[in-house]
Amino acid sequence: MPITNNEEETHSFAQVIAEKVDDGGVICLFGDLGTGKTTLTKGIAKCFGIKEMTIKSPTYTYIRKHEAQDRNIYHIDLYRLNQIDELLLQEIEELFENPKNIVIIEWADRMEQFLPENRINIHLEYIDEKRRSIKIVRGI
Ligand code: ADP
Ligand code: MG
Repeated sequence: MPITNNEEETHSFAQVIAEKVDDGGVICLFGDLGTGKTTLTKGIAKCFGIKEMTIKSPTYTYIRKHEAQDRNIYHIDLYRLNQIDELLLQEIEELFENPKNIVIIEWADRMEQFLPENRINIHLEYIDEKRRSIKIVRGI
């Protein structure tokens, strides 16, 4: 079970995941607040040339699009969502339909029954102030 000892190690771990979705894919992140989902997302985005500064946690909007060289990375954060409505679901499902898209979903459990079969599930856990357990539990 991989454990990262700081943010930098989580960014290194992100490279392993980025390689898996080089041709596109859906990455679902599960874990409480502060476990490192956004940090991991930033690390993945960085691997595709997206600068850390420009990727923010989507607080007021559920979906953020980031354009990389020849593909789009969509960062979805469902933290504030109580119940997924049809319009948002439709929007997200359209993103799944293009296999070249890289879709990263924080709080993916909020839409668990609608997640595509072909996906990577990652579980993050808080160990202590600087350590996080990051487990790939499906899709690799
Ligand atoms: P989440 O999106 O899951 O709520 P964030 O990535 O926004 O979590 O926040 C994680 C916080 O924990 C950041 O402030 C980060 O600096 C800190 N942190 C400490 N150690 C680690 C680690 N090993 N991996 C990732 N983040 C860490
Ligand atoms: Mg977050």
